[in-house]
Amino acid sequence: METKALLEKIRYCNSLTSYSRRKTIPVKVGDVIIGGDNPIVVQSMTTVDTMDTQGSVEQCIRMIDAGCQLIRITAPSIKEAENLRNIKEGLKKRGYYTPLVADIHFTPNAAEIAAKIVEKVRINPGNYADKKKFEIIEYTDQSYQEELDRIRERFLPLVKICKEHGTAMRIGTNHGSLSDRIMSRYGDTPLGMVESALEFLRICEDENFYDVVISMKSSNTQVMVQAYRLLVHKLEEGGFKPYPLHLGVTEAGDGEDGRIKSAVGIGTLLEDGLGDTVRVSLTEDPEFEAPVAKSLVDRYENRSNHAPIVDINHYPISPFEYNRRDTLEVFNFGGTNVPRVIADISAIPGISEKEMKQVGHFYLPELDKWKMNDQGADYVFSGSNPIPFMLPNGMKEIQFYPVWLKAEDQVNKFPAFQLEEFIAAERLHYGLNFLLLEDHQIAQALPVLEGRKDVVVILHSDNLHNMPALRRAFFELLENHSQLPVVVKVNYPMQPQDQTMLYAATDVGGLLIDGLGEGIMLGLDAYQGLERREVLEQIKLHNSVSFGVLQAARTRMSKTEYISCPSCGRTLFDLQETTAMIRKRTDHLKGVKIGIMGCIVNGPGEMADADYGYVGSGKGKITLYKGKEVVKKSVPSENAVDELIEIIRKDGMWIEPEV
Ligand code: SF4
Repeated sequence: METKALLEKIRYCNSLTSYSRRKTIPVKVGDVIIGGDNPIVVQSMTTVDTMDTQGSVEQCIRMIDAGCQLIRITAPSIKEAENLRNIKEGLKKRGYYTPLVADIHFTPNAAEIAAKIVEKVRINPGNYADKKKFEIIEYTDQSYQEELDRIRERFLPLVKICKEHGTAMRIGTNHGSLSDRIMSRYGDTPLGMVESALEFLRICEDENFYDVVISMKSSNTQVMVQAYRLLVHKLEEGGFKPYPLHLGVTEAGDGEDGRIKSAVGIGTLLEDGLGDTVRVSLTEDPEFEAPVAKSLVDRYENRSNHAPIVDINHYPISPFEYNRRDTLEVFNFGGTNVPRVIADISAIPGISEKEMKQVGHFYLPELDKWKMNDQGADYVFSGSNPIPFMLPNGMKEIQFYPVWLKAEDQVNKFPAFQLEEFIAAERLHYGLNFLLLEDHQIAQALPVLEGRKDVVVILHSDNLHNMPALRRAFFELLENHSQLPVVVKVNYPMQPQDQTMLYAATDVGGLLIDGLGEGIMLGLDAYQGLERREVLEQIKLHNSVSFGVLQAARTRMSKTEYISCPSCGRTLFDLQETTAMIRKRTDHLKGVKIGIMGCIVNGPGEMADADYGYVGSGKGKITLYKGKEVVKKSVPSENAVDELIEIIRKDGMWIEPEV
């Protein structure tokens, strides 16, 4: 075990090297128990109008059948809160007893009704007793305390009802909808998010009400991870009970992007044993969410059996803020360069020009030219299968050392060494050599690497507890002041594509979130000797996942980011259709963040740091935003995408798509 002093200092998880779930108090939600020694609970939220009883019941059943153990339903006003009873009855009649959660924003009276009907109520501490006016107010200690007294008065009745009816509560902080009070004092920081929940939690504890679950969601994965860690730290420091955590990334989007973004946030925390219930928010039908959450959670079933990882007694980074590791610039790795993508193509003998499109490089035979898209891999690893043609300027080839030794061009191709080869090598590349290292070889490699400025490490671990094993290797480099860039290599067996997305996002994303890693490489080890078509498909997936992970961890923006809400009973348009339509017109705008939100009540807050916003503000009406500022109100939905593009154009951020 790590030294007690270290764990006391970081105080956010049981162990940084042995998988160990944080022990929390059990919170009963109907027949489901969140926390304690119970398995992690998978939950999701409906998207149909809460007043549509039959539609809600049908959707709940599809969600339950897909693996959902807890269902959240929005209750924006008293009438929806009351209709939860009908939905509950409807489910019972069909033989379903899954506990329900009422989702409350702004309406304490709806919460007080819902708490008598359903098993759990979620409140947003940013708007439970406050209307957001985006005002920065200077509070004196006295006026701040007066605000807290006002909240207590507004919140106490709900606490009492919950206690009386055995109803659980989630205090669900959202990065994008913090109260003006919190924003004024703490800004939209992880500390502000934590304090926002603690204000309400103190009231619960004063009333001896402990059936509380807490969440710290954000669509920014770095902020989300830091906020959960800081929450645990502050709970321990403040002598609070160890409340269970509900994990989620808000507005993650859809498809591959949504899955990767969710896994970077949720997976990183699960690795350190945090999290008692998980909701993956996708802009897709809600029955698609539970299987993704389950894939994330199931990974930890046998995790405790992992091979031991050597203890850590020093934590050389801060778990609560992002700082990129200081590294030397070696060619275009490290320093201030964006993390690089190395595409492993080593399982394809004699790859053709045409096949390079799998890694974002397109050969145009008529012009005898190459074109690269925004996701063109920076390097290709050909191993023992050298590329039989001249590569375009934007791409470089890495070969195994013995192959490189025989290569005619030893300047534009780069060698990859095993450690023994590197130690014995008589010839190196003049400026860029790759060293393939396993996590347990770091100590042996350090003396050889000392003083070198021409090496990039490709780091890999076979440990089942992959991310912490790799993290430990980074710590060893940090402690020994090695500033050589490190590319993280992960390898997975043949498995469904979704799992590759989720696992890579967790294993590599979990490091990037902490500023560790100057590149990513998804290995093809399990695909050697397989049918060419299958391997090429895998290479394409690996390439897009690599760029997706870098983007989701906010370390390299290579595409437009869509911060789209998962939709709920408040939604005013078809979110999936609209997101697809907006994506079709704007997905060439590299690095631009577009928020697509179903309602004006929560949308503007929840789209957090989007550059532009497309928000439903009435039936067939859209309000368009630039940052947090309303630019056009009540635009008919038929014209809204054109108007949005016009706003982006006027802002100088528009570029014409290439034909
Ligand atoms: S922003 Fe989307 S998910 Fe959030 S309340 Fe509005 S419609 Fe529902």
